Amino acid sequence: MNRIYHALLLAGAFLRPASAECRILKRGLSRDILLIGGTLLTPDGVVQRDSALFIQAGKIAYVGDTCGFGTGRGGDDASVVHCAGSVVSPGFINTHEHIDFSTVGPFPDLGERVGHRHDWRLGTRNFTMREVAVNGSEVDAVAWGELRHVFSGTTSIIGGEMVPGLARNLDFPEGLEDGLDARLVIYDTFPLKDRLGILRNGDCDYGADAIDSATATQYHRYIGHVGEGVDVEAANEFICLSNGSFDTTPAVDGGGLSTDIIAPNVVLVHALGLSRGDFDVVAARGAKVVWSPRSNMYLYGTTLDVTYLLDAGITVALGTDWLPSGSATIGREAACAVSATRELYHASLAPEVLWEMATVNAARVAGYEDELGSLEVGKVADIVVFGGGEGDGDGDPYEQAIFAPQEKIELVLRGGKVLVARSEMRDLAAGSCEQVSFGHVDKIVCVKDELGSSFRELEASLRGVYPAVLPGIPPYEPSCEPGMKL
Ligand SMILES: [Zn+2]
Repeated sequence: MNRIYHALLLAGAFLRPASAECRILKRGLSRDILLIGGTLLTPDGVVQRDSALFIQAGKIAYVGDTCGFGTGRGGDDASVVHCAGSVVSPGFINTHEHIDFSTVGPFPDLGERVGHRHDWRLGTRNFTMREVAVNGSEVDAVAWGELRHVFSGTTSIIGGEMVPGLARNLDFPEGLEDGLDARLVIYDTFPLKDRLGILRNGDCDYGADAIDSATATQYHRYIGHVGEGVDVEAANEFICLSNGSFDTTPAVDGGGLSTDIIAPNVVLVHALGLSRGDFDVVAARGAKVVWSPRSNMYLYGTTLDVTYLLDAGITVALGTDWLPSGSATIGREAACAVSATRELYHASLAPEVLWEMATVNAARVAGYEDELGSLEVGKVADIVVFGGGEGDGDGDPYEQAIFAPQEKIELVLRGGKVLVARSEMRDLAAGSCEQVSFGHVDKIVCVKDELGSSFRELEASLRGVYPAVLPGIPPYEPSCEPGMKL
């Protein structure tokens, strides 16, 4: 065993500071090698005290008991951090965002809950059209959104747009950042090419060039919005994508045929219009679901009975959707998931289940489960340390992680690189860092080399937009209350 580290970590475990936070026990010569002691959330469950995570060359090199951490691991130059009462977790993977809408505040609540996304997008059927204009440049807006999520413990995003650096962008080969192999992950907002507001019931006369099974099967992951609504027109979308014999009559302008794309590589975003029988098909085929409860509740007044999906064996991952109607952070998405499930279905969701939806399940949805989403040797070191409140660490560690507001986050690493840390851990970071206050907590943010400007410079240039620093509950957060029945 490496006696120095073992002794350091044991000593650290007994320091038991008044409030749970990380402290540097040893400053290493290398910034690329880091040993973190604390409570680990591993695939085998919670590993409490005297456990450690060793990071080398951007990857996880060891997970487990400090006494089993042997010599000869090349760790003599490592920095050693002990995080008493804190929880060490894989970074969250946000499986659904429209990240370019990150400078837009939430929609004002008109009290209107609609039947289908076209109702608010385009004002169909006499509903109010919700216009959204991006403030500032699109590139700045995307960077701003990635920063907000990184500050919230998210290290990977499927968001439809990307900037280099910051969060990994799993739907862009050029946005993956170090350590991941490129795969064909396709994000599709309009699988049925219904952007102009096509609503169908009883046939599949959507736009020409709608997705078909031959195309969908070519992709490692095909992630599409399907059935975003609560009416028969939303239900019809799933029928047209899951039953090849439903509509065999071509439309005059092309397309118009039903198809069957439902397979393990297919991920349904929202899927709000699906029946239990439809979800039985999804489960039988091994297809997956992205759940965005806050956006569902705010726009349609209801959301999925997710316990039915979980019991059926469907892999469900959380996604925040976008700022105008969704959650600003994964933690707030999880909070809405709990309250919506309780209010609508009188069921409880364990924090561990929600944490899985943001980590291991999300990695499966994204098709990166062999490289992301869990604390396992060989996976990339996308690590978040969630601080505690009272320092004794006796609460539920999954709860401490999944619901953590930004100010409780001690450390965010992407591929072992420090992106955010409490100011006390400044010595762990390489490169250019700046101090940023998250409420009463001071942190360092180390993004200048990736962003091309400091965080403060970007903030100043975007003055007045919805903030990226969001301690506590984000302002003007869209309601997660059940709506009126249509
Ligand atoms: Zn969406």
